[in-house]
Amino acid sequence: MSRPAPFPFSAIVGQDEMKLALLIAAVDPTVGGVLVFGDRGTGKSTAVRALAALLPPMRAVAGCPYGCEPDKPAALCEACRGAGRLKSVQVPVPVVDLPLGATEDRVVGALDLERALAQGVKAFEPGLLARAHRGFLYIDEVNLLEDHLVDLLLDVAASGENVVEREGLSVRHPARFVLVGSGNPEEGELRPQLLDRFGLSLEVRTPTELALRVEVVRRRDAYERDPEAFTARWKSEEAKVRRRIIAARERLAVVTVPDRTLERAAELCMRLGTDGLRGELTLMRAARAVAALDGDSTVADVHLQRVAASALRHRLRRDPLDDTGSTTRVERVVTEMFAE
Ligand SMILES: [Zn+2]
Repeated sequence: MSRPAPFPFSAIVGQDEMKLALLIAAVDPTVGGVLVFGDRGTGKSTAVRALAALLPPMRAVAGCPYGCEPDKPAALCEACRGAGRLKSVQVPVPVVDLPLGATEDRVVGALDLERALAQGVKAFEPGLLARAHRGFLYIDEVNLLEDHLVDLLLDVAASGENVVEREGLSVRHPARFVLVGSGNPEEGELRPQLLDRFGLSLEVRTPTELALRVEVVRRRDAYERDPEAFTARWKSEEAKVRRRIIAARERLAVVTVPDRTLERAAELCMRLGTDGLRGELTLMRAARAVAALDGDSTVADVHLQRVAASALRHRLRRDPLDDTGSTTRVERVVTEMFAE
C-alpha cells in the first residue's frame, strides 16, 4: 500500500512565519537552515514534509546514490562525471529525518577501510547526507543533538559538499540541502555559536484563538478520515503555491537590492547589536526571496520588515538589563526604525 499524500502545505492553519521561512528556503537555499522552536504537536515536521511534497519533482541521474542533477556538470559526483551519457529519472524532493541517536557514520557515510585495503576499491556506504542532497534534512530536537554533529551538519550545509576522510582515504560528494531543526527550548539550549549559523529561526505556538484552534482540528480530522479527498480539495491551492515558488526561483536572479536597502539592513543589525555580518547577509537574502515570491523586482523596506524577526532573533546577545524576549526586541527596533 502506498503512503497517503502528506497534509497539504496550503491547508496549514496560521503559522505564517514558519510557512514563509520554508518558502524562502525553497526559493533560495543559500539563506541557511531554518530553526523552529516551539511546542510539541504544532506541525513542525508536517510543514516541512508538506512543502517538499508540493515542490516540482527533480530530474536526477538514474542509479546515482546522491541523486545528482544531470544538467549541472560541475555539481556531479565522481561516478557520474566519469560515466559518459547519463540517464535521468524524475524523483520527489527528499525529506530525510535525522534521528537523535544517529552515529556519525550513519550521517556522513561509512568508508570501509578493510575492503579498501584488501581490494583496492573505495568502498563507501553513503549516509543520510547523501540522501538529503537537493532536499531537506529534518532534525527533531536539534538542541539534544551532540554539538559536534550539529557543527558538522552546518559545515556541510554551508559548503554543499560532504567530505569523509579516514586514514588517508577520502570520499567527497555533493550534499546541498536545507537543514531544518526543531527544538523545544525547555529541553536544552543550542550554543550561541551554533544558533548564529542557522539562517532563519522562528517560534511556533499552539494557536490561542478559539476559531483558529477549531479550524486546525476540523482540517486535521477531515484529512485523517480521508486523506485522498482532502488533498484533492486542496489541489488547486497547492498548485498556486507551487507556481509561486517556481516563478520566484526564476525571478530571484533579477531582483535587485538597492544600496539604501542594504544600509537599512546594516543599521537594523547595528541597532540590535548582532555580532558579525551573518545577520545582514541573511536578512538581505531572505528579503530578496520574499520580494521574488511577491513578484517584486526590487527589495524594499516592507520585505526587510517581514523577515527581520526570523533572520535576527537568534543572533541577539543576552542583555542582562533587558530580559525582554528577542522577538519583542527585534520588533521594537523595526518599529522605531521604519517609523522614522
Ligand atoms: Zn552522481
